[in-house]
Amino acid sequence: MANKVQRDYHDRRRKKLLIRRTVMIVVCVVIVVAIVGIVLVINKLVQPNGGDAAANVDSGSIPVSQPESISSETAGSSEEPTSSDDAVQTAAAVEGKDGKIAAGDNLTGYEALYPDLYAQMPLNGGKLKAPESKTVYLTFDDGPSVLTQPLLDVLDQYQAKVTFFDTAQPLTNGYQDLMKTCVEKGHAVGIHSYSHIYANIYSSVEAYLDDFNQMYEKIKSVTGVAPRFFRFPGGSNGGGKVNETREKIIKEMIRRGFIYYDWDGSSGDANADIAKNADTLYTNTMKAIHKDCNIILMHNINGKEATIEALKRIIPEAQSEGYTFKALDGTLDPTHGYCMHETLPILVKALDDSPYFTVSDESKKKFG
Ligand SMILES: [Zn+2]
Repeated sequence: MANKVQRDYHDRRRKKLLIRRTVMIVVCVVIVVAIVGIVLVINKLVQPNGGDAAANVDSGSIPVSQPESISSETAGSSEEPTSSDDAVQTAAAVEGKDGKIAAGDNLTGYEALYPDLYAQMPLNGGKLKAPESKTVYLTFDDGPSVLTQPLLDVLDQYQAKVTFFDTAQPLTNGYQDLMKTCVEKGHAVGIHSYSHIYANIYSSVEAYLDDFNQMYEKIKSVTGVAPRFFRFPGGSNGGGKVNETREKIIKEMIRRGFIYYDWDGSSGDANADIAKNADTLYTNTMKAIHKDCNIILMHNINGKEATIEALKRIIPEAQSEGYTFKALDGTLDPTHGYCMHETLPILVKALDDSPYFTVSDESKKKFG
């Protein structure tokens, strides 16, 4: 009897222990599940994109005013999410007032000078293109001049379009209207310089900007077209040594959206002796064209009469071989077919850093 009572007692005790253990296990499981759940929720709150929703990272960071004309590549950030909103802001191509590229915030030093001196938003979304085959861009420096109208007559005759890089000095001599005529006839007018005095313009970034701004305003007011591109007097590595100042000037002009063109072929008319010899100018230019040079250097000032004589042979002959003469419009990649090797790395880097320009696929391959 006593044994039965004792067994019943042990049975009840075992059942109680079993129930208690089961309850404890269930409670433990519930606690673990709850902890895991809380950790996941916290993780989600800290990283709202969860690592796989990168496409949304920048949607709130790119300014609403970003123009449609800017391609996703130049707009900067959707493919490579950056870690901070600030970085996205500075990497984006933003349209400022009057259709110009935006100046940017918190500028100091020379970057803060001439707040209106910014180029129009680049054409083609800033996607720079390699030259088409058999396309030649004749460029004429230092005009307008007494030789501009005779040159325009030859160009009219063959329906050829070219680019003028003008200076200000001739304008005081009554050649101002010719600058407008060039634009009206479908040629391009870019900035060369206001003073064209190397010692002044290359002495500092401030001095270069001061000269550039004067010529920019002059061309804009006379022709009604704001220039998008320019040519350095003497070329980007000419007019003195390429030093820190020149590097800063190149970077600053690209930052403001102005690209520059040197040349990869030359008529040779910069040399006073060659300039007198139409045969040599013809031979030099045709050689350059046949070597697939695209941007040819010529001049349009007093003493360059033979250049026009040479063109009367060059243009029809090249046209009969299938070449076309076009005006620059700011979409041609300035790094392609480039002869100024000293400044080329500076230009490539400045374009690469700019959210407004993308170099051509050909140049990307070349510069890796
Ligand atoms: Zn010049």
